[in-house]
Formats: sequence, C-alpha cells, structure tokens
Amino acid sequence: MASKGIDEGDLAYVGIHDMTVLCGYRGKTEQDQAVADGASESPWPTSKHNRVPSDAVDVAPYPVVWSEVKKFEALHAYIAGIAHALGIDLYDISWDRPHIQRNVP
Ligand SMILES: [Zn+2]
Repeated sequence: MASKGIDEGDLAYVGIHDMTVLCGYRGKTEQDQAVADGASESPWPTSKHNRVPSDAVDVAPYPVVWSEVKKFEALHAYIAGIAHALGIDLYDISWDRPHIQRNVP
C-alpha cells in the first residue's frame, strides 16, 4: 500500500518528494545576521519571524536547489491551498520565496 505522504498529487507531479523548514522563529542574533546577509529587510523585532509563535516560516523542496523555481512555486501553492482550507490567511509574497507568512498586522 502506498504511503499517504507528500509524494502524492501535485507535488509528485513536479518532482517534490520531501521538503524542509529552513527557518521558523528568529531571535535577535539570527535576525541581525539575516539583515546583515541581505536575507531580510526587517530589523529586529519587526519581522514576522521574530514573533512567538512565529508568524512566518521559510519552506523549501528538499534537497534545496534554488534554481528549481517551479518546485518552489508548486510547494508554496500547495501550502497556500491547505492553509486556505484550514481558514489560515497567508500573505502571498511570490518574490520572497522560500518565505511564507500569516496575513496578520
Ligand atoms: Zn522568511
């Protein structure tokens, strides 16, 4: 019997068989580093990653191949669809993948 995991459906169609959470919550040290590295434009504590619990998460297909844009688009669309079904409003930041955040003030 096939597993009921991530391999089924649209994700398998685009070749996604696993995913990874790159970042959830960021403390001050990590946020300062993210800004210094250019990974974030939000100084501590203004990023949605700085909240407890975090209102943002960075998710990528695994293994992470940054040039595989279609896989990122498919994974994020999949996550957005599940969130919508659960009544969770996500802010669509298509230019900021792998970032996903809740649409909250
Ligand atoms: Zn992020």
